[in-house]
Amino acid sequence: MPRGDGLLNHDLLPGEKGPQDACGVFGVWAPGEEVAKLTYFGLYALQHRGQESAGIAVSNGSQILVFKDMGLVSQVFDETSLSSLQGHIAVGHARYSTTGASVWENAQPTFRATAQGSIALGHNGNLVNTAELARMVADLPERNNGSAPAATNDTDLVTALLAGQTDEDGKPLSIEAAAARILPKVRGAFSLVFMDEHTLYAARDPQGIRPLVLGRLERGWVVASESAALDICGASYVREIEPGEFVAIDENGLRSSRFADARPKGCVFEYVYLARPDTDIAGRNVYLSRVEMGRRLAAEAPAEADLVIATPESGTPAAIGYAEASGIPFGAGLVKNAYVGRTFIQPSQTIRQLGIRLKLNPLKEVIKGKRLVVVDDSIVRGNTQRALVRMLREAGAAEVHIRISSPPVKWPCFFGIDFATRAELIANGMTIEEIGTSLGADSLAYISIDGMIEATTIAKPNLCRACFDGEYPMELPDPELLGKQLLETELAAPVETAASAAIRRP
Ligand code: SF4
Repeated sequence: MPRGDGLLNHDLLPGEKGPQDACGVFGVWAPGEEVAKLTYFGLYALQHRGQESAGIAVSNGSQILVFKDMGLVSQVFDETSLSSLQGHIAVGHARYSTTGASVWENAQPTFRATAQGSIALGHNGNLVNTAELARMVADLPERNNGSAPAATNDTDLVTALLAGQTDEDGKPLSIEAAAARILPKVRGAFSLVFMDEHTLYAARDPQGIRPLVLGRLERGWVVASESAALDICGASYVREIEPGEFVAIDENGLRSSRFADARPKGCVFEYVYLARPDTDIAGRNVYLSRVEMGRRLAAEAPAEADLVIATPESGTPAAIGYAEASGIPFGAGLVKNAYVGRTFIQPSQTIRQLGIRLKLNPLKEVIKGKRLVVVDDSIVRGNTQRALVRMLREAGAAEVHIRISSPPVKWPCFFGIDFATRAELIANGMTIEEIGTSLGADSLAYISIDGMIEATTIAKPNLCRACFDGEYPMELPDPELLGKQLLETELAAPVETAASAAIRRP
């Protein structure tokens, strides 16, 4: 069911952003371990999934403390703050915003008081029935609404709903019982990691759109967005949290139940760009998928060239695959400044004019006089590739042939990736030839949808590829009930009323 609206945002020029994922989550239950530090390192491994804010909640069995702030994990935490977070359960979060502004109030883990204690929750994904959830929160009995939240994100609504459930006699429900009632009503992409004072919980939407894995420590358990985050804290991989599964971990061990049947639709873009190459999703290694995408791209779109180079780092595995399959040598034609990440220092106009050079610099000695194949993972707006082609020509490239290891991005994502508005997507309304001309390339080609999917080895029906073909894995509400500012703007008056009511209540 193709859809036409949405908020996406992409660019790699300095001060702007690449395709952004909606967060990394990490949880640990491990008595006797320094859980805050384990979570810190877990989040460090997941930093690529969200760079706007970071937070860790820790329980010592009687209370939960939350420490969160804007910035990178390494900017938010230091030895002192981590030492103040003592306990045996922790939940951590690295955020990129897709519903709700990038402000401190929306940083996670979210926190709510419950009748029996409190709950802290971290969410990777994006919900599509936020308006409905806001109404459900507004309808909670006033005393169950917890402390007045200033947050305007979908995650806080789920936290409020889990915190505020009662039985027919008005007695508060446990978090576990509340999860069994609420999770089947939540729609969209959600990999959740949450906790009360005694138990670590995890849940994954029935489509399993975003990844979530379970790991084992000698003295406990870990849940994380990506398997690479298990490696960094010494946990061994156990299995995925299955689509539609709810897990609770405490001193009695691990309990698993289902709140919905699995209808797998994992995000194919995780394999293309989002996940770390050293992560496995659904049993398939991301790096190997990318190399295979490059091989297939070479078969589908050959080029007469002297050298294959990558747009580092995300284009590198596909460039290696392209070189391997085409027989054209692979070389490092661009040097990336590894330290240009997200910064609070906004580049001045003068520095901004340096454009792409803040991030990438050509190796003139390597590319001069050469016919280049430049392999990148995706094109969203095209600004970066246009600047790149210009820079390579200035550095002496004889020809520039661009090859993209994913198909043209034509549709918005409502499940946690922020590209650009549909009108800003360069593939929307332009032929591939026109895009190539607009970029200034000698030729441009993309991998086919089937080529990309086959490279993942995952069955096509089990993957979401909606941003490429417009086939969304679930029914979506009207466009005015979707969007980042849904709980903040005046566009959706009835929704805002409900959300505001929820926010105002004590
Ligand atoms: S629309 Fe694209 S980016 Fe979004 S979940 Fe589906 S495949 Fe992933």
